[in-house]
Order: sequence, then C-alpha cells, then structure tokens
Amino acid sequence: MELLEKLCMVHGISGFEGPVLDLMRTELRKSCEEVVIDTFGNIIGRKGTGRRKIMLAAHMDEVGLMVKHINKEGFINFVKIGGIDDRTLLGQRVVIKAKKGDVKGVIGTKPPHLQKDEDRKKVIKYDEMFIDVGAKSQKEAEKLVEVGDPIGFEANFSRLSKELCYGKAIDNRLGCYALLKVMEKLPKNINATVYAVGTAQEEVGLKGARVAAFKLDPDYCLALDTTLAGDTPGIKETESCLKVGKGPAIT
Ligand SMILES: [Zn+2]
Repeated sequence: MELLEKLCMVHGISGFEGPVLDLMRTELRKSCEEVVIDTFGNIIGRKGTGRRKIMLAAHMDEVGLMVKHINKEGFINFVKIGGIDDRTLLGQRVVIKAKKGDVKGVIGTKPPHLQKDEDRKKVIKYDEMFIDVGAKSQKEAEKLVEVGDPIGFEANFSRLSKELCYGKAIDNRLGCYALLKVMEKLPKNINATVYAVGTAQEEVGLKGARVAAFKLDPDYCLALDTTLAGDTPGIKETESCLKVGKGPAIT
C-alpha cells in the first residue's frame, strides 16, 4: 500500500507528467536493466534480452484542468484536460502547478440560494465555475498563476477497509503499481525482452502508448488500466458483471 500511496500522492496531469515520471524512474531502476525516457515523455524500462518482445504499458497521466482566464476580481476560469464529468467538479480542492510553486484553490459557482428554481435542476457546466485562490484582484492572482498553468486535484489516499482504498488518480496509478510489481517479480534470465512502459497523455487520446509501440515494435502488448466496478448501486448485471475483489478484468 505504501508504494500505491506514493504513486497517488504525486501529480502527473496529461502533458505535465514530470512528478510521476520522476517517481516511476526511481522505481523502475530498482528492477530493470535499462531505463530510458523517450522524446514524448514515456518512460521505458527493459528486462531480459530474448527474441520475443513484450510490451507492458500503464498510463502515468491523470485528468486535470488548466488556467484559461483570470478575471478582474482574481477568480480563475479553466478548461478541462481529459474526460471529466462536470458533476464531480464543484467543491473540489485543487492545486495549480504554477511556475513559482503550487497554489491551492477551491472550485465554486454561483450559490444555489441565488439561483432560479429551473437553474437549480440543471447540471452546472465547468465554464460556469471558477477557482478561488484567495486573491483580492487580478493583479494579485497574476502574481501567483498564469494562463496555461496545469491544475491538479488535491492529492489524497486512504483506506475504506482492509482491502479497499481510494486515492487521487487511482486511474491509473494502480496500473503503474501493477507494472512495477510485475517487473520486480520477473526473473533476470527471462527468455524474452520485456518492456515496462509508463505512458504519457493517455487521457487526451491514448497518445504515449502509440508512440512507444511504434518505437519498440513489440510482438505482444498488454495495457494495464483500471475499469469501472459493476457492483455499485444502479448498475444492472447486463450492463456490467465486474465485481470488486473478484480478480482482474480482461478486455
Ligand atoms: Zn485509465
């Protein structure tokens, strides 16, 4: 759990994977014979030198936001990086990964008390929300952040029970965790060349895996990622038969 927690606590917003990349490099170096970073920002660890090439890929990046505009009052408008359900955004605590350092903020919108009845029934879109960083003016906010800065969700990790945990970016730090553990357990004299690839920019179009696969030209490839649980309220068995704790799903 300690390694999984470490993976969840670092940021790696698509296109800005730096912090998670550093951690993956440190961990892959413990088990791999060679570790390189390609020009796209994928990290590739290798073990073995056999004829068959096997690529194991896990995306390192996570969804996030980006600063789009800073208004006169010092509030921040944002765009989304990756697929995010707008319904999950309100009230989130975020960290703007600014050049001069992290800036904390909270996502707000016009309070429901001041909304018309019909508006209260609608889903609030992300472009009607703002981030409050505590700045009193545009000038004050601009001292902290600038347009184009990536924004991550506040990191957290904890347990729900002995066997279940939750955390920021569990999609796909769990895949990264599995990747690291597989490389650790593979014997040194394995009769294949196994590549462990931590891929970049999956959440914005499966980009890194494509670049890595083109370069490595593997005979076989497995992508390690999370999926949704079918045993939560409101999901019919015909929609998903996946159950938490019953082993991995293969698709
Ligand atoms: Zn994923």
